[in-house]
Amino acid sequence: MSLQLLSSRLKQTFGYDEFRPLQREIMEASLEGRDAVAILPTGAGKSLCYQLPALVRDGLTVVVSPLIALMKDQVDQLEASGVAATFLNSSLDGAEARRRLDGLDAGEYQLLYVAPERLMLPDFLACLKGWKIAALAVDEAHCISEWGHDFRPEYRRLKEVRQLIPDIPVLALTATATELVREDIVKQLELRDPEVFLASFNRPNLKYQVVAKSGAAAQVCNFASARPEESGIVYCQSRKSTEALAATLRAQGFSAVAYHAGLDPAERAKNQDAFLRDEAKIVCATVAFGMGINKPNVRYVIHADLPKNIEGYYQETGRAGRDGLPADCLLLFSRGDVMKLLKFLEEIPDEQARNVAHRQLDQMTHFAENDACRRIGLLGYFGEIWPAENCGGCDHCLHPREKWDATTDVQKLLSCVLRIRQAGNFSVGLNHVSEVLTGGLSEKILRWKHDALTTHGIGKDQPRPYWVDLGRQLQRLGLLAASADKFPTVSVSQLGIDTLKKRETVMLTRALSMPKAKAVRTGDIPCDPGLFEKLRALRKELADARNVPPYVVFSDVTVRHFSRDYPRDAAALLRIPGVGEKKREDYGEAFLAAIHDWLSENPPQEFAPLAPAAAPDPKPRGPGILNSTAQLTLELWKSGNSIAQIAETRSLAETTIENHLAQAIENGEPLDPRAFYTAAEEQQMQAALDGYDEASLKPVFEQLEGRISYGKLRLFRAISARLETAG
Ligand code: ADP
Ligand code: ZN
Repeated sequence: MSLQLLSSRLKQTFGYDEFRPLQREIMEASLEGRDAVAILPTGAGKSLCYQLPALVRDGLTVVVSPLIALMKDQVDQLEASGVAATFLNSSLDGAEARRRLDGLDAGEYQLLYVAPERLMLPDFLACLKGWKIAALAVDEAHCISEWGHDFRPEYRRLKEVRQLIPDIPVLALTATATELVREDIVKQLELRDPEVFLASFNRPNLKYQVVAKSGAAAQVCNFASARPEESGIVYCQSRKSTEALAATLRAQGFSAVAYHAGLDPAERAKNQDAFLRDEAKIVCATVAFGMGINKPNVRYVIHADLPKNIEGYYQETGRAGRDGLPADCLLLFSRGDVMKLLKFLEEIPDEQARNVAHRQLDQMTHFAENDACRRIGLLGYFGEIWPAENCGGCDHCLHPREKWDATTDVQKLLSCVLRIRQAGNFSVGLNHVSEVLTGGLSEKILRWKHDALTTHGIGKDQPRPYWVDLGRQLQRLGLLAASADKFPTVSVSQLGIDTLKKRETVMLTRALSMPKAKAVRTGDIPCDPGLFEKLRALRKELADARNVPPYVVFSDVTVRHFSRDYPRDAAALLRIPGVGEKKREDYGEAFLAAIHDWLSENPPQEFAPLAPAAAPDPKPRGPGILNSTAQLTLELWKSGNSIAQIAETRSLAETTIENHLAQAIENGEPLDPRAFYTAAEEQQMQAALDGYDEASLKPVFEQLEGRISYGKLRLFRAISARLETAG
C-alpha cells in the first residue's frame, strides 16, 4: 500500500486535506507493523490514527474502548462517512449482537469497537482467531494504569490478545500527560519496541482566563448570555451546586441541565444526550462529566469552583474546542475555595496522600494567583517550555494588569505587623492586622491593647478586604512570611525588613477583573452569521431525523466553511474540509439548496483568506516549513547534537527524532546522508529498496535481517525521494 493511498482516503472518506501533527507518522509506524504509543492532547485527532489505516488495511481493526456511549458515537460518525464499522457491548440485545457477529464472520467490517471485558471472554477470544485481525488499537490507554485517574482492571488483560494473535501491531492512544502513566502503558501492554509519539500539550485555540469569584451564578449568567447560541460546561465542586446553578440558569432563560454521579442513570443519560444534541446549551457538572464526551463544539468551560489540581484543570478545560475553533476557559477564583479544599484535605487519612494533595492544591492556587502567562504556567507543569513571551491567548497576555505604586501602603502594613510583634510577640493573622490598620476596636484589640499602637487606624482610607488582599500579595512576593498552621499567622520576612529599611518602591498589580475586549482568536473561521444559523438549523433537522448528534452530520468547522465559501455545486462542496464522498451524497443536496435559497435573498459576504491556523498546532503547508516539533529537532541537529542526544534532551524516542529529520529532508532540507549511514549501508538499502513502493518497511527490514534500523531505512528513503525529485 502506498503512502499516497492514505492521503487520498483522508480526503475521500473524511474530507480532510491534510494531516494534523503526528497523525501521519503514527499511521506510518503502525502500517509498518510496529507497536506505537500516541500521546496527543484532546482534540488532536487521535481517532483518525487508527481509523484511516483501518481503511487501507486488509482485515479487521479491533478498537478497545472503555465507554459504551463513546463507542456508539464513534461508530455513528464513521457510518456517516461511509465506513463499515460496528461495535459490540452490553447495550445490544442478543439478536442484534448475533447479527453483528455474523457480519464479522463474513468479513463485512473494517473496524470493530469493543469493551475490554467482552474482548476477554473466552468465546470472544475464540472468535477473534477466526476473523482476520489486522491491528489492535487501545483507546484511552491510560485506563490500564493504576496511576491514572480512570483505572480499569480489565485493561490489564489486554496483553493476552497479543499473545493470542502475535503478529498484529498494537497502537495505544491517550491524552494523559503524566510520565508515570505513559511508562505503565508500555509495560502493561507488553508493547514490543514501541515507537512513542508525544505531541505538544498546548491547545492554541483555547483562551485561559482567571477572574476573582464574586457571585459565581451571576458571573456564569453574564458569561453565557454573551454567547447564547453556544455550548458550554460549568464545573462545580458539589452535586448540589450543579443542580442549584442549573436551576438558576434555567430561571434566567438558559437551557441548562445538571450532571453528576448521583443522578439516576436515566436522567443522567437524558441530560448528557440533550447536551450532545445541542438542545441543552449548558451542562452544570461535577468532574464525573468528562471522559467520553466527544462533543467537538464545546465553546467554553467554566470552573465555578477551584479544581483540586492542575492536571484536572487541564483535562477539564481540554474538553473545550476539540474542533479547533476558538474556545474559552474561565476559572472563578476565590481564597475561600482554597480554604474549603484545604479542609477536605485534612480529612485524607493517609499522610503521604495528604501531602501530595496539598502540594497539588498549592500549585493550582499558584497558577490562579500568579501574575504571569497562564499557558506558560500550564505547559510548564507538564514540563513543556513555551517558546514565545506573549502567548496571545490568556488574560495576562491579552490584558496585562495595571501596575501601581503601593510603597506607602506596603510600609503601613509591614510596620503594623512589626509593631504588633514588638508589642508582645503575638502571632496574629492577616485578618487581625487588617482590623488594626482600619482602626477596629474588637475584643482582642482592646485586650491586647493594639488600639494603642501607632499603626492603629493608619489604613482607615481603605476597607479591610483591601488590606487582607494586599497582605496576600506581599506573601507571594516574600515580604511577609506565613506560618503553615490551620489559621496562618504572619511575620515580616528578612526581605520585608530590608524593603522597609531601604524604603524601596514596591510596584503591585491590580486585582483580577473580567476582561472586556475581544481579541482575534487562533483558529477562528469568520463566516456569514445569518447563513451559519440557517445551516445549523438544517443540520439539527437532518441529525434528528437520523437520531444522531448534529456533529455527526457536519462539524461546526464544516458549517462555517459552507457559510463563507458559499459552495454552489458538488465539486465545490467536496473542496470544503469535512465533506467526504458519503456525506456529500447524503447531505450535499440539502445544504446546496439551503445555500442557494440564502443567496437568492442575500448577497454573499467577502472574507479575508484564513491564516493557516484553523487546527491545533497546524502542520504548515508547502515545502520548507516544518511543524514546530520537527523544527526544534532540526535546529538541535544542525547545532551538532546526535540523534541519541536530541532524543534524550527532548524525552522523545530516537525513532521520533529520525522521523523529524526524515520530514525535514522531505521538506527539502539538504542533510548529509553520511551523518546517518555509511556508504556500505547505503548500498544495501539501495538494493533492498530498489523498485519497492509499499509504505511498510517491515519486509525490507526483515530482508536485511534487522542489520539496518527502521530509522535509517526511513531516512534513506526520504533522501532518495528528494534526490529523485531534484534530479
Ligand atoms: P482526540 O481523540 O484526540 O481528542 P478526535 O479524534 O476526537 O480527537 O478529533 C478531534 C476533531 O478533529 C474531530 O472533530 C475530528 O474529525 C477532527 N480531525 C481529526 N483529524 C483531522 C484532520 N487531519 N483534519 C481536520 N480535522 C481533523
Ligand atoms: Zn499567556
